[in-house]
Amino acid sequence: MALRIDENQKRLVGSFSEESYPDECCGFLLGRRSGTDKEVVLIMPTVNEQVRTEKYHRFLISPEAYLKCERYAQENELDILGFYHSHPDAPACPSDFDLKHAWPWYSYIIVSVRKGQTSNVTSWVLADDRMSFEGEVIESNPYSPEEQDVASRPVESQEDRTWD
Ligand SMILES: [Zn+2]
Repeated sequence: MALRIDENQKRLVGSFSEESYPDECCGFLLGRRSGTDKEVVLIMPTVNEQVRTEKYHRFLISPEAYLKCERYAQENELDILGFYHSHPDAPACPSDFDLKHAWPWYSYIIVSVRKGQTSNVTSWVLADDRMSFEGEVIESNPYSPEEQDVASRPVESQEDRTWD
């Protein structure tokens, strides 16, 4: 079981995390299932609802944002494979809050941002007993023009990908 992610999309996760620093950012991982692996071809930033009330090490995606993303995924024959979020000045390990709010099967990418720079990127999946996370291997895919076409078609710029 591994999470395969296009190199460009992985880089984007890092840059969005750095842009949001010192706040925590979050978003969706879209792609396709491939056997027991997941293949991320597009990341989709969204608003971290939690930032408005409590800062740091928490992220919350609204049901409306989830529905919008799900619709977008369906239209583009993609699946929501998971989520990413950043941990400003904290390790790339899930917090108790992350564990409490995690759903089974989905991949959770966590980006540790130290002093505004990406220092570590990890991925996690809820264990079968839902009491803990298991680390997931991240494999970076080389650039694929076909996938990139899907990823870039609906948006002109990175900003347009944020639904606010
Ligand atoms: Zn977290």
